[in-house]
Amino acid sequence: MEPNWMAKGLCANQPPETFFPSDGVGVEVAKRICAKCPVVDGCLEYALTNRIDHGVWGGASERQRRRLLKARRKEAEKAARLELRASRK
Ligand code: SF4
Repeated sequence: MEPNWMAKGLCANQPPETFFPSDGVGVEVAKRICAKCPVVDGCLEYALTNRIDHGVWGGASERQRRRLLKARRKEAEKAARLELRASRK
C-alpha cells in the first residue's frame, strides 16, 4: 500500500518517466516540478528512509540523496562518538 501523501504529489498527474530521467536536463525538469509540490519534505524523507536509489524524489536526484545519506551517517557516527566519550567521564 502506498503512503497517502503520494496521491497529493504533483507527479501523480505526470508520466512516471518524468521522474526517472536519463540525463541531467531531465533531472532538472523533475526537480522543478518537485519544487512546487506540497509533499516534497515527506517524499524526500520516504526516499531516504527506504533507500530508494533511482529517480528524482523529494526534489533530490539520486546523487543528492546519496550525499544526504552519507552526511546523515557521518552526523550519527559523530553523535555516537560524543555520547560514548561523555559516558566515560
Ligand atoms: S516531491 Fe516530486 S517526486 Fe515527490 S511527490 Fe512531489 S512531485 Fe512527486
